[in-house]
Amino acid sequence: MAKKNDESIEPTGRKNVVCRFCGQKNGVKSGYVNGAANCGRCKLPLSDEPRKVFANLHKNDYIHPADAKALAALKAIPGVDSALKKLLAWTGESAIRVAFMASAVKVTPKQCPDLYAKLEVACGTLGVDMPDLYVQQNPIVNAFTGGVEKPIIVLHSALVERLNDEETLAVIAHEVGHIHSEHVLYLTAARLLEFLLNRSVAALIPGSEIIKLIVSMGIASALLAWARRAELSCDRAAMLVMQDPHVIGRTMMKLAGGTFASKIDYDLFLEQGREFKKQYDESRLDRFWADVMNSGLSHPFPIWRVAEILEWTESGEYEKVMAEHAS
Ligand SMILES: [Zn+2]
Ligand SMILES: [Zn+2]
Repeated sequence: MAKKNDESIEPTGRKNVVCRFCGQKNGVKSGYVNGAANCGRCKLPLSDEPRKVFANLHKNDYIHPADAKALAALKAIPGVDSALKKLLAWTGESAIRVAFMASAVKVTPKQCPDLYAKLEVACGTLGVDMPDLYVQQNPIVNAFTGGVEKPIIVLHSALVERLNDEETLAVIAHEVGHIHSEHVLYLTAARLLEFLLNRSVAALIPGSEIIKLIVSMGIASALLAWARRAELSCDRAAMLVMQDPHVIGRTMMKLAGGTFASKIDYDLFLEQGREFKKQYDESRLDRFWADVMNSGLSHPFPIWRVAEILEWTESGEYEKVMAEHAS
C-alpha cells in the first residue's frame, strides 16, 4: 500500500513553538531545531529557550560609570536645566513630531509589523512605555531618540536594510535604553546644539542669545562630552534585552565595517576591541586623541563600544544585574 501520511503534508507530527521574544505561537514540524526558522511575527530567530524580562529595573542598576560621572559634571553647572529648557522651547516638541510625521514612515502594528513587534519586545523587557517609532530614508547607518515629554525613536532606512533582525532589535533596544535611562531631554538638546553649532546658523535664528549663553557657560562642551558616554549605558540596556553579547558585537562590527563586514573575522574584531580598551585605559595620550576624534561623531567608536560590553559581561556585572532584577 502506498504511504499516504507524509509528515510534510499532514498536520500530524507538527507542534507549536512559542517565540521567546514576542510570544507568538509558530507551527513547526516535529523535530524542529531552535533557530532553524524565524518567528512569523517579530521575524527574530524562532526558539523556545527561556528569556528573562525586568519588572522593576532602575537606570542605576546598569548605568555606565562614565555616563554617571559626566552627567554629574553637567548637572553641577548652575542654571543648566533652565538654559536647556529655553533652548528646547525654541524648537519645541511639536516641531520634532511634525518633522518626522511629514518625512518618515510611522511604524504601527500594520505598517512594518515586525519592527513594531521588536519595539514591543524591547519596551516589554526593560519596562518602558511604547514610544512612536519611525523609519526615515537616510543612507547613513544610524538611529536616534529625541523629544521632550514624549520620546520618539527614528531608524534610518540604511540601518534597517543593513542589519539582520537580531541586530535591528539590538539597536531598537539601545534606543529604548535612552528612554529608560532618562537621557532623552539632554540628548535632544545635545543633538540640537550640534546641529546649530556645526552649521554656523545659530546667529541667524531666534533664540541665538541662549545658544551663546549655553556655549559661554560651558554647558555645550559638558553636554556633548556626556552624550558620548551615555551611549555606553544604552549598549548595556541593549545587552539586557538581547542577553547575548555577540549580537551586540556583530552589530558593532557592521557599524564599523559597513558593507565590508561580511569579510571581517569576528574574533579578530573582538581582539582589536580589547587592544583598543587596554591602550585607552593605560595611555593618557590615546585617551586624549580618542576623545578628540570622538567629539565629531554621534556615537562613540564601535570598537570602543564592543570592548566596553565585553568587559561588562566578562566582569560578572551583567550576570549580577540579571540575577538581581530579571525573571
Ligand atoms: Zn516572535
Ligand atoms: Zn544612542
